[in-house]
This record gives sequence, C-alpha cells and structure tokens, in this order.
Amino acid sequence: MKYLSTRNKNNTVSSLEAVIQGLAEDGGLFVPSEIPPAGLCEEDLKSMSYDEIAAHILNVLLPEYGKETVDEIVEKGYDGKFSAADRVDLKYAGGYGFLELYHGPTSAFKDMALCLLPRLLTAANKLTGNPDKVMILTATSGDTGKAALEAFADVPDTGITVFYPALGVSDIQKLQMQTQSGGNVRVCGIEGNFDDAQTGVKKAFEGVSVDGVTLGSANSINIGRLTPQVAYYYYAYARMLRDGKLSYGEELNFVVPTGNFGDILAGWLAKKMGLPVGRLLCASNKNRILTDFLETGVYDRRRDFYTTDSPSMDILISSNLERLLFYALGMDDEKLKGMMKELSEKGFYKAEDSVMGYIKADFDCASADDEEGARGIRKLWEEDRYLMDTHTAVAYACAEQFKGYGKTVILSTASPYKFAPAVLRALGEDVPSDCFEAMDKLEALTGAVQPERLKELKKKTVLHKDVIKPEDINEYVREAANDLR
Ligand SMILES: *Cc1c(COP(=O)(O)O)cnc(C)c1O
Repeated sequence: MKYLSTRNKNNTVSSLEAVIQGLAEDGGLFVPSEIPPAGLCEEDLKSMSYDEIAAHILNVLLPEYGKETVDEIVEKGYDGKFSAADRVDLKYAGGYGFLELYHGPTSAFKDMALCLLPRLLTAANKLTGNPDKVMILTATSGDTGKAALEAFADVPDTGITVFYPALGVSDIQKLQMQTQSGGNVRVCGIEGNFDDAQTGVKKAFEGVSVDGVTLGSANSINIGRLTPQVAYYYYAYARMLRDGKLSYGEELNFVVPTGNFGDILAGWLAKKMGLPVGRLLCASNKNRILTDFLETGVYDRRRDFYTTDSPSMDILISSNLERLLFYALGMDDEKLKGMMKELSEKGFYKAEDSVMGYIKADFDCASADDEEGARGIRKLWEEDRYLMDTHTAVAYACAEQFKGYGKTVILSTASPYKFAPAVLRALGEDVPSDCFEAMDKLEALTGAVQPERLKELKKKTVLHKDVIKPEDINEYVREAANDLR
C-alpha cells in the first residue's frame, strides 16, 4: 500500500511522506492506494483497550512507522491526557449510543488525533531523514486550532500557526486559542469565515517557501489526522459488543456531525477495512451543502453562509469529500481535477449518477438547524438526563429523522461546556452574558462537572490578538516560518 494524490495518482509517497507533506504538492489529498483490511476478530474487539485498537489501526494504515514506534506514539501521546478511563466513553440515551470523544485536553474530538500528530510527524521526519523544521499551518472552525496548539506547543523543531475566523468561533473557543502559551505558537484571526481561512492556508502551501522549513498541516487533510480517527469506530463497536448490545457481525449505524467531512470519512474507512458498519449518516447544520449534494448530486457553494450554534460545522467547502469522490470515480484523477477546478472557478460541480450511486451505497444525509438542535438538547436532558453539546445535538436531531434505522451510535464531538450559552438557551434558561457565568450556571443546573481546563481559562492572559485579511496569510506565514528558522 502506498499513498497517492487524488489529483495525480502517479504521485505516490510512503505514509511517512504523506504525514510530513499534509497536502500533496499538486493540491490533492493523499489516499491509500488500496484500503487494507484491519484484521480484527471478535475476540480482539472484546479484549483490546482503546490504545491497543488505535495502535493496531495505525500499524495497518501507516505501515512504514513500524510497530514499536507506533505503540510508543500511542502510549505517550495519550497518556495522562484524558479524563475517561478508556480515553473515550460510550453512554446510552434516547435509544442511541453516544460515543463521547471529548474527554481529552481541549474538550473536543480533535484531541483523539492531535494528541498523536506531533509524534507521528517528528517520527516521520526522523525516519525519512528530513533535516527541516516543520511549521504546522492550521485553519480552524474552532476546535482543531486549540487541539493543535496544545499538541504542538514547545515541541522541538516545530512551529504552529493557527488561523481562525474572527467572528465565527464561540467565546470559549477563542479564549482557548488566544491564551495559548509556548515559544513556537502563533494564533491569528481572519476577517472572513472558515472557508476563507482554509482556502488561504491551502494557498500558503503553494505560495510560501522558506529554506529549512517544511510546511505541514494539522487539518484533516493530513492522513495523520484521519487515521487515528478510524480507531474509535472500532472502539464503539467493541464497547457495544462488551455491553451486550450487539452481536458480532451485526451492522451498526453511525451518525456524524459533519463539517470538513473528516470524521465521517474515517467511519467509511473503518467500514472498508472490515468493520460491520451499516449506514453512515452525514449530519449537517443550517449550512446544508452536503445534504443538498447527497440529495441532488450538485455541490454548489454559491449560497449564503450561516454562523450557527455549531460553529465547528460552519463549512461550505468540505475538503475530505474529495477523497471519497476519488474512490467513487474509480480513481479517475483527471476527472476529479476537473470537478475541483469547476468548484473553485465556477462555484459548483455536478457529479455523475455512478458517483452518487457509489456514495449512497454507504451514506445518508440530513440537516437540522439551531432550533431543532436545541429541542433535542432539551428533550434528551428532560427525558434521560443526558446532556449534549450543540454539534452532537445536530446529529441527534438528524438521527431522529431516520426512525427505524436500527442500532445506531451518535458521535458526541464536544463538551457541552464549550458552548454553554447555547446549551443553556436550549434548556430554556436565561443566559448570562459572561461565558464563565454561563458555564457555572450550567453546572449548577445539571450537575455535570465542567472540565477544569475550560474553567481555568478565566484566569489566563490573552496573548494573541492579531487579526488579518485572508489575502495577507502568505506574508504572515512567511514571517512565522522565518522566525522558526
Ligand atoms: C470539527 C468538528 C466537527 C466536524 O468534524 P469534521 O471532521 O470537520 O467533519 C463536529 N463537531 C465538532 C465539535 C468539531 O469540533
């Protein structure tokens, strides 16, 4: 197995190179030339810990690291950073399993991959003999930024620069990033939305070159982000087996609150690697570009962009869809390149029926706006005393549109405390204007303990105040890379 670029399949690299480069030089994303079977049997699933599952999956998907290195990366990367006994947790409420992926250092699922990425990257540098330092560039819709900053802060020979939409993240998300310490970190607001930030960062990969510095990515365009996420689909299945909720071989559906299509694509990879996954429900908020695409076959970004209560899903250009399209097109890189060109030049493309057939064999889609999400938060709290965040709530509201779906796990991607004002409002409470007061009130009301790391933000100093225009990203990156040198 090699990794090849979706826009030129003759551009093949090892998994090590793919992790270092992030984005291929031709602008494509790296995908495995063939999707390898995971080779996990019922006994394995019933007995393995989260770390063992994660290491196993990484060994299969990133073969050039070697077992010893991967085992160490997983153990050291996760150790001591999670408040759940098994890193993640699975709870049952409202007829669903909720896979809680937010018990890591920054209270969002992005930690599952980002705790490992710096180690994956530095090991890859060492194994390939790359003498450069690595500058990580990240566009964030709110959660990736903090998780990446936390992971890369003060890691030797690396630097990290994060761009976030100045008006598009929650107060807590913004504070998490602006108070980040570390000698190698930069955080900068963009006058624009996430898509502006992501497009700007992708351009910087092509437009900025500084001797002695490799630009790397902590976004889910990097397979080092995507591959660790496959593990928790296996873990969810394993937990349901152990909890007696499922018998081996039975299909399990997953509902995934979706933005950049990374999380749900990891679920699709799990299915292709042999996990008995039934349907994958792509849940969107009011920015329902993926819902429309799955319903009509037309991907059209010429539309209004909404800022919602689930900001980490406020995305119109879902990068990872390109990976799925590549397989759906039978690896026709030329055709794919044409579609991506149409998207960037005309603002839309239409996929062939065969492509849509391929996608619909595994995926369903639905969308839910803030109000439907809020109703879900209130319902599950009142009926089951289960508290969820606004992103998970979108997934729940979408799942409810598919009654009779069979056994289903909803991915719970963030702590409710990251979005306390919106969660309080959903519960029908008055909302204090200060986000810390809102968190305290939510805690007093529900008894769910707020993450210590979020509470502590109140005492931290804002260190990063830069805000720039999207067209100035290249210059900002050049300066940061020169500093790193
Ligand atoms: C990033 C994020 C999502 C969307 O995940 P994608 O991989 O971008 O589809 C959903 N919920 C939360 C809380 C997130 O941080």
